[in-house]
Amino acid sequence: METTAAFRGLSCTACGAETDGTADRCPDCGGVLVGDYDTQALTPADLPDAPGPGRFEPLRPFARAETVSIGEGATPLVPVPDLADELGVGAAYVKDEGRNPTGALADRKLSLAVTAATQRGTERVLTPSTGNGAQASAAYAARAGVDSKGFVPSRCPFLNKAMVNVHGGDMRVVEGRYDDAVAAFDDATDEADDDWASVAPGHPFRIEGATGVAFEIAAELDWAVPDAVVHPTGHGETIVGLERGFAAAEASGLTDAAPRLYAAQPETTAAVADAAREGETEPVTVERPDTIVGPLEVPEPAAGAAALTALDRTGGDGVAVPDKEILQGAVDGCEMGPETGATGGTAVAGARALAERDAFAADDTVVLVNPVAGSKEADLLRSHLMSQGI
Ligand SMILES: [Zn+2]
Repeated sequence: METTAAFRGLSCTACGAETDGTADRCPDCGGVLVGDYDTQALTPADLPDAPGPGRFEPLRPFARAETVSIGEGATPLVPVPDLADELGVGAAYVKDEGRNPTGALADRKLSLAVTAATQRGTERVLTPSTGNGAQASAAYAARAGVDSKGFVPSRCPFLNKAMVNVHGGDMRVVEGRYDDAVAAFDDATDEADDDWASVAPGHPFRIEGATGVAFEIAAELDWAVPDAVVHPTGHGETIVGLERGFAAAEASGLTDAAPRLYAAQPETTAAVADAAREGETEPVTVERPDTIVGPLEVPEPAAGAAALTALDRTGGDGVAVPDKEILQGAVDGCEMGPETGATGGTAVAGARALAERDAFAADDTVVLVNPVAGSKEADLLRSHLMSQGI
């Protein structure tokens, strides 16, 4: 693989085993892999003058010129003073990942996962997805000139299915819920020939893609990191990426602290959040996943244990919130700041619940991540308003 000089390979978040950049999971224990770097001392002036994640090339696995990119990253960190007042904190911001090319944070992840796959010479990338990952996978595969196939549950939004087709991607719509789509993906990949690569959730370069969110938040705050970041959580990849990113920025000397990370989840599918609350090191079993927030209906998170380690390491926690509060959080978020969908509303509702239990100090700077464009989830918000007679 053609990686940056800083990238040494991958190491396992569970057992510490080191491997090269070509494994998807730890060959020894099946744990989640993350990038290992020779971190050099950096000042902001040392960073390349480039937009988006490319600016952080010294802390990333692939050089800008080698990365499959359609302009992901460089999303705004929008101040939301009304939310800061409501939460009783010094400042609140929304990191609006809805501004990515396909309207989701998933773009950062698939950019690097597809880059890694194509560097290995693959002609086809495969992933199970609740919807946005399949759309991003199709978009980045098209850009790289390779085929893609997404395995999505029947409840996957029409918008995602349509855009997979528009990008020329193949798709299998699996009757049932997300775990049925994962089972179909597992069956298909067991039988597939060698000419494909997985870009499924838990993939190490998806996690590396998420580190850019941390770098950009720190840079936007003039390298003074926030006190807390609240992230709507499905698989837990972005929690791991945020922790790795903030830790790398601190290790390089760009920052001198790292924020507490909070994983916000719908209460019926709170595999990570409930485990964090209970001090467990593995995700809890979700009996009946049933949330209106499709992207977060992930009963068996692919990076759940790694995310729990990351939350613990930062002094953060989990927070589980009911769908009704999530939808209200989304609508209120749209009134106070950038358009937040149901997925992003989980951060608003989660931050409110965290404020209720005094998780924030009065002078804290709190960042909420909006992982999906509000307009991608307009039908959920509209039906919430109609249920209230609006
Ligand atoms: Zn391992």
